[in-house]
Amino acid sequence: MDRCPTCGKKNPTFPICSRCNTDLRQILEVEKAAAHFRSRALAALKQGKRSEAETLADQACFLHRSPSGIVILAIIALANRDFATAEALWREIEKMGGYTPKPEDYIVVEKIGENAGLDELEEQVSHLIGHSN
Ligand SMILES: [Zn+2]
Repeated sequence: MDRCPTCGKKNPTFPICSRCNTDLRQILEVEKAAAHFRSRALAALKQGKRSEAETLADQACFLHRSPSGIVILAIIALANRDFATAEALWREIEKMGGYTPKPEDYIVVEKIGENAGLDELEEQVSHLIGHSN
């Protein structure tokens, strides 16, 4: 985590925030659990299991609502052609400071495009996450 969730101190000392004494270990555990759900959601997406992926991504975001979790929900919304939801999720990500795509994301986008049989979907998502080629 780059900020103490209690007082907002940047790069808080670990495991106890030096400014407000919040114990950051439990928070880190929750963030780790969220990351686990996110990777399972991405794995499900790659296998074309969109509704399973959505459930897992929802669980990840329930634990830790982060840009890397929300982006999965946004991609699923696009694949479902639910553009209003995708846009709302994207605005939420921007408010949180944006999202830097990882190479892994492009693989997921390619797979979901294949599975949905939608060439233009891949283009839309690639555009959305800033992939240019
Ligand atoms: Zn603090």
